[in-house]
Amino acid sequence: MKILLVNPPNAGISIPVEKFGLKETQKIFKGEPFALEVLAGNLENHETKIIDLKIPGESLEKEISTFSPDIVAFTSLTCEANTVLNLSRETKGIDKKIKIAVGGVHASSDPAFFNRDFIDYLIIGLGKHTFRKLVDSLERNGYPEELAGVAGTNPQAGISFIRREFDRTDLVEEKPPAYDLVTVYRKNYVIDSLGISMGYINTAYGCPNNCSFCCIGNITGNRYIEHNIECVIRDLTLLEDIPVIRLVDANTFANPDRAKKLCNAIKSSNFKKRFIADACADSIVSDPGLFEQWQKAGLHAVIIGFEEINNERLSGWRKKSTLVIVQKAIEILHDLEISIVGDFIISPDYCENDFRKLETFVEKSAIELPVFSVLTPLPGTPLYKTMQNDIIIHNLDYYTLGNAVTETALPEKEFYTILTGLQDRFHRKARL
Ligand code: SF4
Repeated sequence: MKILLVNPPNAGISIPVEKFGLKETQKIFKGEPFALEVLAGNLENHETKIIDLKIPGESLEKEISTFSPDIVAFTSLTCEANTVLNLSRETKGIDKKIKIAVGGVHASSDPAFFNRDFIDYLIIGLGKHTFRKLVDSLERNGYPEELAGVAGTNPQAGISFIRREFDRTDLVEEKPPAYDLVTVYRKNYVIDSLGISMGYINTAYGCPNNCSFCCIGNITGNRYIEHNIECVIRDLTLLEDIPVIRLVDANTFANPDRAKKLCNAIKSSNFKKRFIADACADSIVSDPGLFEQWQKAGLHAVIIGFEEINNERLSGWRKKSTLVIVQKAIEILHDLEISIVGDFIISPDYCENDFRKLETFVEKSAIELPVFSVLTPLPGTPLYKTMQNDIIIHNLDYYTLGNAVTETALPEKEFYTILTGLQDRFHRKARL
């Protein structure tokens, strides 16, 4: 079958920009559509293409008319969900015989949103194994709705599906991501601040933690599933010309023993690469030696969801860390000369004093690249359940993590003026 995998274009509305004419902070990373490359890796014997609509000049309509796919599959973040609806509708309008599938974070977190008559199937959670089964079933004129992890749409009756119990089978480890399908785009996948090329590798899916605002658990059914170390080394070898590797796991160091083994395997393979990986502050504090070893293996920067400096908010979101742990983690990483990308969540109820305290903390901590998002109750998360009655903006175009979708305590303009000022000051001096 001919399969077209689609990375949707950049989407979303920015309240600070659109409503108040404030300056938007530039994005630092431009990443490859790794989830689609992973799916494509398991589609041998089918003709598969990836179109990355985040790259200027690409046209889905043109690709459909030249490639004539049997299946068009979209991935979608929450802020891209409306865009994916529009693209799906357009695709069906071009040729109603094309089967349309949607997967990714939003389909896994809020499948009912995509229950439309111009969409045929949803892939719920990890898709490498499930999507292949769906394609094979369609080829045999089978009944894909019977597959666990596949939801057939039915706008009249509502959506129902068999939930898949994810395990290592879903990683289909023997087949690497189809990196070759994005060769034409590769020059665009760079870190702006370094001006160098960056590639993606996955070493584990999911996370053992359960922070209330996080949608990662919906992808794996709250499981943490690790890749075989040999497969990670194989994938690194496939990206041998790429100098910087982003480990796109939600939590690379959740299993310290295995993280040590992976580190040793990377060292023995003698890769001359810089790595960027996600870690939790408490993992760093409980095993600084692990990060020392990783630094020697090339760990250049760690992305940490510090989220807050207020212990009450941290525990309210089920974060395992406290302010003391956050401070200690920063100290350890700086002693090791590992750069920090620190994520902070600004609650809509922030007052001027909260902003001031956070700015002072970030300044004093000398975090190389702080990233400030706005607390967003993403559909399908525990936070959504607790905040849903407070939501005043339901249009998912605003769910970019840059907008408050609940009432701000400060007057709205003041909130965004302080927020964008904070983002701008730190991004101008960011170094990674
Ligand atoms: S530690 Fe990170 S990835 Fe894990 S649940 Fe919390 S926010 Fe999500």
